[in-house]
Amino acid sequence: MIDLHMHSTASDGALPPEEVVGRAASAGLSAIALTDHDTLAGLPAAVEAGQRLQVRVIAGCEFSTMAPWGEMHVLGYFLPLGSDLLEEFLANCRADRERRGNEIVDRLRKLGLKVTREDIMREADGASIGRPHVARALLRIGAVRTIQEAFDRYIGWHRPGFVEKRLPTFKAVADLVHSVGGIVSAAHLRDRADLALLTDLKAQGLDALETRHPVHDPDQRSRLTDLALGLGLLRSGGSDWHSDEQVQHPGAQMGGQEIPDEWLVELESVRPVVAG
Ligand code: AMP
Ligand code: MN
Ligand code: MN
Ligand code: MN
Repeated sequence: MIDLHMHSTASDGALPPEEVVGRAASAGLSAIALTDHDTLAGLPAAVEAGQRLQVRVIAGCEFSTMAPWGEMHVLGYFLPLGSDLLEEFLANCRADRERRGNEIVDRLRKLGLKVTREDIMREADGASIGRPHVARALLRIGAVRTIQEAFDRYIGWHRPGFVEKRLPTFKAVADLVHSVGGIVSAAHLRDRADLALLTDLKAQGLDALETRHPVHDPDQRSRLTDLALGLGLLRSGGSDWHSDEQVQHPGAQMGGQEIPDEWLVELESVRPVVAG
């Protein structure tokens, strides 16, 4: 079995990349994709651990893109390490995450919370900054009792501390990933996916659909599977593991989505051939 969606401390995950791979080895996985938000920084350590522990590590990344409903997450796979084009794009995304983190802090301070930019920076500790770092800072200063409370009261969608990221189009991300030899899968779409949306995304370069994900109930999973197979899209899936605290049911454990090795073979077979 494999798992093609997970996070490390390079973004908003709880464990360093080598320990994430250690978990994968313990779970008996033959391959994983590390898919941190807007960064490849965890990959060298993950790949090294994978060689040691005999887990194949696919270089992945979770991009955030524009969508009619707000934001769509796109998983890129088979990414090269050290591509100037890709690294420059991701550096811009991370700079915008920092800008947005600062704006969130400004809003929270106007609401009377004593959180500072430094608090967020300390939680992120060099990682690609996300709302979970803000939530942890609020927890640490005692402004909330749980991470969930931070999202529900302050930084979830449409809550008073919420600030949007500047999002690239899906097409921009798909073109970029293809230009460096990777492929793209649309992540955890739940009921947002329909024939019209996926037909449009496929025309813009979508290779695969994440059918198996902890937030997909059995009906959503089978609907997404039918849509993927009907449109000639490949399938991807994974636990979206961030930390053990966030594991609410067996399907959210690392490897819990029970993705067959064959899916990775198929995804790899549609990689574009690029020069260099
Ligand atoms: P961002 O990319 O900064 O907008 O943050 C989104 C991340 O926050 C997701 O990738 C999840 O890891 C986490 N997240 C989103 N919603 C919640 C929630 N309600 N409770 C806990 N974590 C969440
Ligand atoms: Mn996350
Ligand atoms: Mn996501
Ligand atoms: Mn994710």
